[in-house]
Amino acid sequence: MSSAYIICVGDELLSGDIADVHGSFIARYLNNHGITVERICLVGDDYQSILGVLATAVARSQLVVVTGGLGPTSDDRTRDALGLLVGQQLEFDEELWQRIQETLGRTLHGSNRGQAYRPALFQPLINARGTAPGLIGEVGSCRVVALPGPPHELRGMLEAHGKRIVHSLTSGESTATVMTCFGIPESQLEDALRDASTEPASAPAAAADVEWHTRAEYLRIVLRLAGSDEGARQSIVSRLRESFGEERLADGETSLAEIVVAELASRGCVISAAESCTGGMFGAALTAVAGSSEVFWGSLVTYANAAKRAVLGVGEPTLKLNGAVSEETVVEMARSVRSVSGTDLSVAISGIAGPAGGTEEKPVGTVWVALDSSRDSDTRLFHFSGDRDRVRRGALTEALLMVRTWAHLA
Ligand code: ATP
Ligand code: MG
Repeated sequence: MSSAYIICVGDELLSGDIADVHGSFIARYLNNHGITVERICLVGDDYQSILGVLATAVARSQLVVVTGGLGPTSDDRTRDALGLLVGQQLEFDEELWQRIQETLGRTLHGSNRGQAYRPALFQPLINARGTAPGLIGEVGSCRVVALPGPPHELRGMLEAHGKRIVHSLTSGESTATVMTCFGIPESQLEDALRDASTEPASAPAAAADVEWHTRAEYLRIVLRLAGSDEGARQSIVSRLRESFGEERLADGETSLAEIVVAELASRGCVISAAESCTGGMFGAALTAVAGSSEVFWGSLVTYANAAKRAVLGVGEPTLKLNGAVSEETVVEMARSVRSVSGTDLSVAISGIAGPAGGTEEKPVGTVWVALDSSRDSDTRLFHFSGDRDRVRRGALTEALLMVRTWAHLA
């Protein structure tokens, strides 16, 4: 298996002014393509430091990715360090200069010409999002790649040139499967993974060779299954889907709101919402996704009982008899917002986020969610633990999961 060094250049990384984000981003990309990252190094903007780390990296690995220091200013030294590494003067590349001007389609400054200089051994990688082209070259038995530092440029470069960067260093086949898991406790996921990889009746023998890594946030875990046998990885994924349900898992690294927007869009469905304890979080989550206007009518934040009565027409008897956090109230909220909006489906959320307001019968963390549509309706009761933020985020996640389940049946 090939190994790589990642070198991030910039005084600002060493002064503590900014935290490195490129190291982990590139490492994840390389790992997903079966390349092991040996080291991620941070180095300041001086030739000697960059050259020193480059020389070590080239001697010890098959791939070196350097980020930053390709700009037009005098503190951008990566290009010069690469020239020193291979013992070549930088040469002006007229064709590259033309391409930079064409790509940007605007007047460039004289200092930008400096970005069209390169050591002859390195080929340019066109940067569609900025003036600094990347560079790629084979130094002995090591491939060396330099990419620009601004984050959106770096990401664009990996999207555009990633395949060329890892070409022939990987087996060509993907050696990892990435999934996102929603609302599954980390310990339960771990147990399920262990069972799925060791139970001989349901998993092929190679499943035992699959390794897994998780990156957990509250209610969202990014899972990476690594192993050369694709069938073994897929058998583990199937077992997880069986254990936790289709709607709690998604391919790749993604968010639940993104999935819900995409799934509603593909079915041509529009949703509306009425929120109490989440105070607009449902609407915020959907509208954070580009393209949500196609599927999202809006969300009415009816927090006080007075708002539930005035805006949604929830009956006084319903509220008096059952309380704002009750099946009856969320059902009325969901029906009402769907009738006002004329959408295909609607969701209503009402709960006790705490820390005050809980009773023995309805402790803090009690949340009702209702989904209403012409096809069917669904109402569920949840009990979340944790502080106010966790209860609200739990309510949001489960409401989105109910919508995803509904969409799967459509
Ligand atoms: P340019 O100078 O044209 O912007 P460059 O390739 O020379 O591009 P740098 O000057 O090193 O890139 O970085 C530009 C900006 O990108 C930095 O000010 C910083 O905000 C951000 N940046 C660079 N490297 C990193 C990193 N490793 N992690 C996070 N942000 C970074
Ligand atoms: Mg710079």
